[in-house]
Amino acid sequence: MKDMLPAWLTPQEIDSVLAKVAEPDSAELSAILEKSLALQPLGLAEVAALLRVESKDGLRDIFETADKVKQKVYGDRIVLTAPLHLSNHCGSECLYCANRRGNTLIERKYMTPPEMREAALHLVRQGHKRVILVSGQLPNADVEYLAEAVSVMYTVYDDLGELRRVNINAGMLSEEDFRTLVRYDIGSMLLFQETYHEESYRAAHKSGPKSNYFRRLHGPDIAKQAGVNEVGLGLLLGLGPWKFDLLALAQHSAHLLRLYGEGAHTVSLFRMRPAPGSDFMPPYPLSDADFLRCVAVARLALPTSGLILTTREPSGLWRNGCSAGASQLITGSLANPYQDWNEGAGEHGVKFPMSEDLHVDEVVRFLLEESRHLPSFCTACPRLGRIGNEFNAIASDCGMRSQCGPNSIASFMEFLLRYATPYTRGLGDRLIAEKLRAMSEGERMAAVRMLQKVLAGRVDEFI
Ligand code: SF4
Repeated sequence: MKDMLPAWLTPQEIDSVLAKVAEPDSAELSAILEKSLALQPLGLAEVAALLRVESKDGLRDIFETADKVKQKVYGDRIVLTAPLHLSNHCGSECLYCANRRGNTLIERKYMTPPEMREAALHLVRQGHKRVILVSGQLPNADVEYLAEAVSVMYTVYDDLGELRRVNINAGMLSEEDFRTLVRYDIGSMLLFQETYHEESYRAAHKSGPKSNYFRRLHGPDIAKQAGVNEVGLGLLLGLGPWKFDLLALAQHSAHLLRLYGEGAHTVSLFRMRPAPGSDFMPPYPLSDADFLRCVAVARLALPTSGLILTTREPSGLWRNGCSAGASQLITGSLANPYQDWNEGAGEHGVKFPMSEDLHVDEVVRFLLEESRHLPSFCTACPRLGRIGNEFNAIASDCGMRSQCGPNSIASFMEFLLRYATPYTRGLGDRLIAEKLRAMSEGERMAAVRMLQKVLAGRVDEFI
């Protein structure tokens, strides 16, 4: 079964829908947008219809509704997460990736536990509470290494804070290995398909475990069956035809929802970037406008999934993405940590990046200066067991909003008090005052009670 196309993915149907569905008239468009506003996942023909819209008014309605849907489910918050790259050893040969096995230009590294601790402290001292551990497809499928890294993360602590949520993006594992990680209390497993388009996938993934297209497609099922509660899907935009990929992603999420009660917990939308030791160019490059449209349509298609962008995109673009439905930012790049490799290779090759160069205070400041979004460091849901199906049920009922508002404000105030520069603190205080004014009476009272505790020195306040 693992060596064939899963029944939920129907490429011919996707091609046919993309070819046949016409631009919707305004009544049809309204009906689709209403469905999304009712937090119903969209079907293939509906997603394809959104991709057909060309009129200025229609596009405006798409972007405005994507924002409304995000507001309805998550409110104004933008969750911030840091990647931590553990190792760049890899047994696969993905032509776009610096970690690919055959790349001789980079220095190879397994971070040692003391180095992991140091890197984690670096993030903690910036105010991060969530981390994504990233590695290549470790040649020995070394799950003990990953498990140890998770343990290190959960035991990192200094006077300034701790990490409270550890997610993983480390390629495909066996069911048994996923079970091992579940025992270590991991958060989400991010399992990017990169592209669902078989020809494009095979052209870019030349050998090694990741080159098995069918196995990759079955990965989220294997993780779910091993007890992973939250599985994130993702696209490497530019690798395949993005409209096809978006429809396939909708099919994938619908399949997970049908079988396990939650669709894609998150959807990551990253564009392919240049990498040291790779001259592979994106076969289907995406313009900024198409990228934003992809974000908005993904939000409408999967109303309750977390939508993740990276701050490796130009800052204007990720900020616009936050207004087009994105709910999370990775403050560094999962797809390419070697952003600055043109500084030159060292004696042993391009150095393994031991930490991210973008400080979270800068990201928060960008969000505050030019946007209305509330940066959030809240980790209440996983720690109260509101995960997987339960999270989905609350999100679908708009329940996240009433809890997330006060929780996000409390976590943000904790950040402002303990980690922010004075300038960011001033901006943050003003934003919190604005958000409190806009809240319902009940939410405001809850938020004010929590703020009083945080201002008195309490940390980790949530409801
Ligand atoms: S994309 Fe992942 S599996 Fe492929 S070469 Fe890079 S690190 Fe390895």
